[in-house]
Amino acid sequence: VSHLRFDPLSGEWVTVSPRRLGRPVTASAEGCPFCPGGEGSEAPDPDWDVAVFDNRFPSYGGPGEPLPGLGPGYAAAPAGGRAEIVLYSPRHDVHLPDLPEGKVRLLVEVWRHRTEVLEADPAVACVFVFENRGRDAGQTIGHPHGQIYGYPLVPPRLARELERLREHRLRHGACLVCAIRAHEAGGPRQVDREGGWLAFVPFAPRFPSEVHLVPERHVGELAGLGDEEVADLARLLQRTVRRYDGLYGAPMPYVMAVYQRPRPAAPEGLWHLRVAFHPFLRAPGRLKYLAGSESAAGAFLLDASPEDMAQALRAVRL
Ligand SMILES: [Zn+2]
Ligand SMILES: [Zn+2]
Repeated sequence: VSHLRFDPLSGEWVTVSPRRLGRPVTASAEGCPFCPGGEGSEAPDPDWDVAVFDNRFPSYGGPGEPLPGLGPGYAAAPAGGRAEIVLYSPRHDVHLPDLPEGKVRLLVEVWRHRTEVLEADPAVACVFVFENRGRDAGQTIGHPHGQIYGYPLVPPRLARELERLREHRLRHGACLVCAIRAHEAGGPRQVDREGGWLAFVPFAPRFPSEVHLVPERHVGELAGLGDEEVADLARLLQRTVRRYDGLYGAPMPYVMAVYQRPRPAAPEGLWHLRVAFHPFLRAPGRLKYLAGSESAAGAFLLDASPEDMAQALRAVRL
């Protein structure tokens, strides 16, 4: 059963989830648990556009169990929370760039709706929408899909950002992300824009062609987006993935994540919504590995300038 353990040296919680090893690994449609109608399929019958269901091998949601033998500064807790799968299409071979625009919009609407549902669960401290695309990004089932975690805690990355946002707000009385977005608009790292959404490579990214999508309006979560903003985001999401696939002429393995207000840790008005892509190719056929500096020291090294990567992404013919 899943549970959380606290590491006294890093000050971070990790999730221990041995059951996940039972999850099947399959790239092809044969034996795919997400293709509707197949034997042992977890997907509902095929009359749908986007489907959501509980992950059968969840990282979160277990009742937990008592752990014996805790040591100095150690702590453990049940991994309550939620884990859901979001299928982008009943078809095994239809990826995000191939979907009709209306279906991508529907997908974002589903994220928005599930966020509202999961946020109402008292066991959930942070709703995190993400996609692992490609085997090199940790995708174990080839069927195009994303996931939604209802974390029982605020994950370390978001907790740190929350502190940075709080500090900037105290010192300058304004939102740091609003300031960054305004600074990047029209600059050398801008990649694309759609309505009020700006796509840009951040000043100091962790991955060479990392792209962030940030709305102009100061809004903290998907649930706060109007229909027009959802439609604009859907178009920009799809174009961004097409740019990635065009960059090296092959599907880009990436992790895409929606960073939204971790309720209830972040007071209303403090957070600014963004979607971030973490792409794993640094050149054609060459993966960016998390090697010694990244894995062991947490210090990321880039072998291309963010300005050059933005230029290359802008230049992709769509
Ligand atoms: Zn499938
Ligand atoms: Zn803002």
